[in-house]
Amino acid sequence: MSRPIMSLLVGLGFAIAVSACATPTTRHPVIAADLGAPAASSDMATSLARPGVVTFQRVAFAHWTGGRGTFIDRDDPRTAEVPQGSEEATIYAYVIDHPRFGRVLIDAGVSAELDDRLNWIMRRSVRDLNVRIERTTAQWLAGQTAPGAVFLTHLHFDHVGGLIDLPLATAVYLGPGEAQEGSRINLLLGSPADAILEGHGPLREWAFQPDPEGDFDGVLDVFGDGSVWALSVPGHSAGSTAYMVNAIDGPKLIVGDAVSTRLGWEDGMPQPVPAAARAAADRSAERLRRFATAHPSVEVFLGHQSRTGQPGTQPD
Ligand SMILES: [Zn+2]
Repeated sequence: MSRPIMSLLVGLGFAIAVSACATPTTRHPVIAADLGAPAASSDMATSLARPGVVTFQRVAFAHWTGGRGTFIDRDDPRTAEVPQGSEEATIYAYVIDHPRFGRVLIDAGVSAELDDRLNWIMRRSVRDLNVRIERTTAQWLAGQTAPGAVFLTHLHFDHVGGLIDLPLATAVYLGPGEAQEGSRINLLLGSPADAILEGHGPLREWAFQPDPEGDFDGVLDVFGDGSVWALSVPGHSAGSTAYMVNAIDGPKLIVGDAVSTRLGWEDGMPQPVPAAARAAADRSAERLRRFATAHPSVEVFLGHQSRTGQPGTQPD
């Protein structure tokens, strides 16, 4: 969601270079994850043939509307043919129930209390997106088993806001470098991740090793039983992480904002990222598409939309 926020700041006449040095996404403490065995992408591919042991469910929490420039890079000539217009986006989280490790959420949904924790610039930016909450994480949690852990795709506020509604003891995992990623804009936005993570324990950082086959930057067998895999897919953010879930009803690939829309996945449109992240973002998107193409049984879940032909909560 960085583009509308940038536009707003420019519109308000702020000098983006207000700070000489970059501010990290969060100053929340980070420790090494206590889960995740380094593996090769071929190990993950082999696991697809085994019967799944976890259940999987996608939950829609909120909807918002953004101009296409929020999702595709209008400065990139590859997007020249895409007409002007807006895209409907959904904030999702995913519920995994493992017979031994219990319940895990991928991303965290939304909280009604988020607004109060944001500074006025960030709050106004969120209002510009016309976010319509369908259910908060607190509402979803009522009558449910609370998750013991949240596996984040990344730290942007629309993926972590629901942590406010989850027990402070919930263990939170994320990709390497995600917390520390610096940007001058973080200072102006008042570090929303810090505000959301207040009171939570340290973030647990996935310890990826290079994938021996080079299909991804790194692959982790999260529980050591082939049921859930973490994939390093940097670009949208420094520590962007995708998850492959070997569910009872078939394998699911949760790509996060490595590819957030159908324009990105189906038409290969590049997303707006800083120039320094362009190569990584394009490479990560291509690697995910290649994996899905090679394994057509895998159902793909994009960051903010349903794939064409797949059942989704409408409108998204
Ligand atoms: Zn994002």
